[in-house]
Amino acid sequence: MPDILPLDRRTALTLGAGALLSGIEPAFAREIGQSGAPDWASEPMRWFQLAFTEDDPGRYDPVVWIDYFQQIHADGVCLSAGGGIAFYPTAIPYHGMAQGIGKGVDPFGDMVAACKKLGMRVLARIDPHAMNAAAAAAHPEWALTGPDGKIKRHGSAPDLTLTCAYGPYNFELMPKVIEEIARRYPVDGFFGNRWNGSGTCYCQSCRTLYRAASGQEVPVDPDPSKPEGRRYAAWVEERLFTLMDLWNAAMRKHRPQAFFIPGGDRRGLVDLNGPALSKRLPLAFCDRQARSAVDSPWATGPEVWGAGRYTRELRAFMKDKPVGHIISVGVEEAYRWKDSVQSPAEICIWAAGAIAQGARPWITKFNAKPLDRRWMEVVRQIYSWHHANEAYLRNSGNLSRVAIVHSPRTTAYLGGWNRRGQLEGHLRGFYQAALESRVPFDLIDEDFLDEASLSRFRTIILANAAVLSDAQCDQIRAFVQRGGNLIATHQTSLYDGDGRLRVDFGLADLFGCSVTRKAEGPLKNAYLTLRHAHPAMAGLSDISRTIGPLFRQPVTAHDQSDVALTLVPSYPDLPMERVFTDKAETNLPMAICRQVGRGRVAYLPMDIDRTFAELGHGDHLTLLRAMLDWTHQEAHPLQIEGPGLLDIACWCQPKSMTSHLVNLNNPMTMRGSYREAIRTGPYRVRMKLPQDKRAAQARLLTAGMAVPHGAADGWVEVDVPYIDFHEVVAIDFA
Ligand SMILES: [Zn+2]
Repeated sequence: MPDILPLDRRTALTLGAGALLSGIEPAFAREIGQSGAPDWASEPMRWFQLAFTEDDPGRYDPVVWIDYFQQIHADGVCLSAGGGIAFYPTAIPYHGMAQGIGKGVDPFGDMVAACKKLGMRVLARIDPHAMNAAAAAAHPEWALTGPDGKIKRHGSAPDLTLTCAYGPYNFELMPKVIEEIARRYPVDGFFGNRWNGSGTCYCQSCRTLYRAASGQEVPVDPDPSKPEGRRYAAWVEERLFTLMDLWNAAMRKHRPQAFFIPGGDRRGLVDLNGPALSKRLPLAFCDRQARSAVDSPWATGPEVWGAGRYTRELRAFMKDKPVGHIISVGVEEAYRWKDSVQSPAEICIWAAGAIAQGARPWITKFNAKPLDRRWMEVVRQIYSWHHANEAYLRNSGNLSRVAIVHSPRTTAYLGGWNRRGQLEGHLRGFYQAALESRVPFDLIDEDFLDEASLSRFRTIILANAAVLSDAQCDQIRAFVQRGGNLIATHQTSLYDGDGRLRVDFGLADLFGCSVTRKAEGPLKNAYLTLRHAHPAMAGLSDISRTIGPLFRQPVTAHDQSDVALTLVPSYPDLPMERVFTDKAETNLPMAICRQVGRGRVAYLPMDIDRTFAELGHGDHLTLLRAMLDWTHQEAHPLQIEGPGLLDIACWCQPKSMTSHLVNLNNPMTMRGSYREAIRTGPYRVRMKLPQDKRAAQARLLTAGMAVPHGAADGWVEVDVPYIDFHEVVAIDFA
């Protein structure tokens, strides 16, 4: 088998993971440029995935689905093709086939032909993660192998063997499969389910390739918090990007406009490099199908606003390219009830959260013989609304001026497998604070801190973005020099791009302080004292003292006049007679807020964001909001008066602008299991018009009516009487 890792990449591997992770593939960029970026990627607005089961061939009714696709105005479809189990008569030896295929039975081919007749774009779903017994017996070298040399069976279907994603199954067999499908069927692209492996593999191919690339053995414990784990993750990433390029080349022999779209819950076990991924993807989907009761980074979590969060994570590296959100109509829990159906309210709120943040909906259904059809009418209503208002949902740009930097490298390098959830708490906390504060905001990927990517933002938030390379620190410094504002927490920039501890913050000059010793915590019975004389705290005169964070990073301020918050250190919390302190105020800085050139920088040497995610204390929300207000110094482009909790977004389209309001006022918001819409309102919505635009008319897209609007000084104002799940205020430009 050829070693297709290019020599320069192999050299990069020896330099360490950080050097490699920031790389992109110029050759591939040129190839895309020559063949023309696939022009169809932005066309489909509503997707549907029909995933066949092995007993579907000959037993399901294609007419039901074709009728349904027309009813819901679906314009993109993903259909099960092959990989481990083919749903067409494949001629490739050891490419497994579903029962009954081949005697004139070709469910994939039938559905492709019918969908193309409707003008739909078609993705062939491939799933190479497991193979049947005949394939495993003939090709044991295709199997996922443990450190003991034993091949691994499928956990749920023991007659199947798991495959190695980095070796000959994906690199030799799958290009033939992809080419066969592309040659026989008029597909527009391929979607890969579980294409990227089922864990660390110790097969002969992996051992040989890894040794050649790194000079090391495949690590026994590839936890990315260890250098050997990061080296292995970098190699995996390289293999997967090479695989994507190989598969793209295979399909383009017959379908020049086709491209591969990876499935996967986020961006891989250690998140794949954002720029390298977006370079290869004209269109991407977020596979976070529904809320789940488990609160862990491997699950979607219980909060209903997760749909919006994962869409923002996708757009953090896809930016203005089209993105979609894969939505399940079933219950997505560890117990895997794949034939289940959620309540209509739950489907509606999850879809609304994703659509509001710019996702095109993709409904996924397993089994072409639906046993429980209650979801079909719900999806028909959502998709019919989406179709009727399509012009207002085809966004050309997001208007928010605040971005939280998404730093998956920090969570992987410092959190590893075990503490990743804790590290993600920083982003989750600031995310919730921005949501509760009704600040329109986006996420931006840690590798898109360049001038062009940050140009639309006035303030960026580094919620414990601890791992930052020197180059990234320079980019942030340049952003502030251009007049940008910065909020940072805890150990931001304390580690270099490879995850090595620095002696001081990479951004110490911006923060106006230096590290004195290692982080402390958890802190019990410690408090924060506000210095109201500092302008950043001036608006908070009713709070003089509040509870402290759980962890803090001790620092010394370069100038005490920049200090806006100080620490009251822990003092006894038992027995009650001892619960007192003589320290009402110290010089221990907990917020350093300063003007740096034309920008403002607020640095909080503590995990107040993560503490807020855990405890939800109102004073911490007030403090985080005060940091946003003091730094940002500009009216947000969307302002809403009215009750409760909303997820919001503001967008422009070529001839209009829209504001999305998702109603999260429901007792089930933090748990996700919606029963009903709880109508809330009224709201007054003020939107800032883009320069040189005037408002001609206003519409409420869910209420389905034109409404009066007021306009003055470049702002337009509309009253929204109520919201059930989701309302969109659309302003047509004159
Ligand atoms: Zn392997």
